[in-house]
Amino acid sequence: MLGLAAGFLLGSFYAAAPVIGCRESDLTPVPDTEFLTPTESEAPAASVPEKLPAPPEKWVCLTFDDGPSKTTPDVLAALNAAGVKATFFVVATGYNEKYLPLIAEAAAAGHQIAFHSASHEYSDIYQSPDAYWEDIALLQERISPYILTDGIHYLRFPGGSTNTVSRRYGGKGIMSELKAQAEEKGYTYVDWNVCAEDAVGGKPSANTIYRNVVRETGEQTQCIVLMHDSATTRTTAEALPDIIQWYKDQGFAFCTVEQVLKP
Ligand SMILES: [Zn+2]
Repeated sequence: MLGLAAGFLLGSFYAAAPVIGCRESDLTPVPDTEFLTPTESEAPAASVPEKLPAPPEKWVCLTFDDGPSKTTPDVLAALNAAGVKATFFVVATGYNEKYLPLIAEAAAAGHQIAFHSASHEYSDIYQSPDAYWEDIALLQERISPYILTDGIHYLRFPGGSTNTVSRRYGGKGIMSELKAQAEEKGYTYVDWNVCAEDAVGGKPSANTIYRNVVRETGEQTQCIVLMHDSATTRTTAEALPDIIQWYKDQGFAFCTVEQVLKP
């Protein structure tokens, strides 16, 4: 386990400053970094070289929650123009319905698709473990015309794995129970240690989002960046070219989550 991310976040600004981070519902003040276990070697393809390359020293996963939406094409265009693969934690509410075919487009372009939620309604999904898994089953059903869901082994809990909002609906132990069940079912749950704060109120400018990412990255060398491709986060795509260029300049390799976190 790598403690660096949580330590840095806590010590440097979360403890001292008022939290201005992600919208409240998606905030994880203390990222759970247990998941940050880079694979020794990722060996998916048939054309694996004899000696597998070591994982990069500095890596960053750009992750996008709450899409697909009308902003997803712009996000995909920015990523594809830069040749960067990202991970999308998708939802399938009524709003998303007409954008769901974008999941197939993203997957075809080499991006990773992972589960987030069908409804994204905390009061429903965190009612009980059964309610949570029913929501995931519904998500699976809704996106299955566009992607082979059997191959999806990663998920992100709405609010993150250490959210406390869920207690209101499912009691104090709900997240521990869900985390254990996720592992039993073969899912890797994914939090974040850099928050772009692109889903906060007041519509942050592209420049603000860029500065948030740079600031929250700090000295970290293994980063999972939380961003959104929801209908309301219109400036995220605009910020992407600068964010990507900055990580490149700092020597980071861009990876999808499945490339760096063991399944
Ligand atoms: Zn979300």
